[in-house]
Amino acid sequence: MTADCLFCAIVSGDIPADVVHRDDDAVAFRDIDPKAPVHVLVIPTSHCATVVELAHQDPARVGHLLSVAGDVARAEGVAESGYRIVTNTGPSAGQSVHHVHFHVLGGRDLTWPPG
Ligand code: 5GP
Ligand code: ZN
Repeated sequence: MTADCLFCAIVSGDIPADVVHRDDDAVAFRDIDPKAPVHVLVIPTSHCATVVELAHQDPARVGHLLSVAGDVARAEGVAESGYRIVTNTGPSAGQSVHHVHFHVLGGRDLTWPPG
């Protein structure tokens, strides 16, 4: 746990969240400001700032997070219709919480580029 990290506080339960999956290595919970009918964040239970750092430190954990993202998509009913997995890295990409998280978005048209 890293002090002053919002997502570490969600892992520990100090800050409540609508948790849809929890295991020793990952927690998945609904985004507080959803951008799609399904918007779940999948995070590692141990603190790491970016997905690329995590990939260097522990690549199997990145694989586990993606596996959980797929399980979440299936449980949320969007595995067949399709969904997007997004991870923002750094300020220009809009990363606002510096604890690795995969956004799992689905339930509406997400084709890219739009139009
Ligand atoms: P980022 O902008 O870093 O890619 O994504 C951070 C996400 O965390 C945002 O989509 C934001 O809505 C979500 N978020 C911020 N604070 C909270 C919170 O306290 N609880 C939950 N469940 N999500 C949060
Ligand atoms: Zn953290």
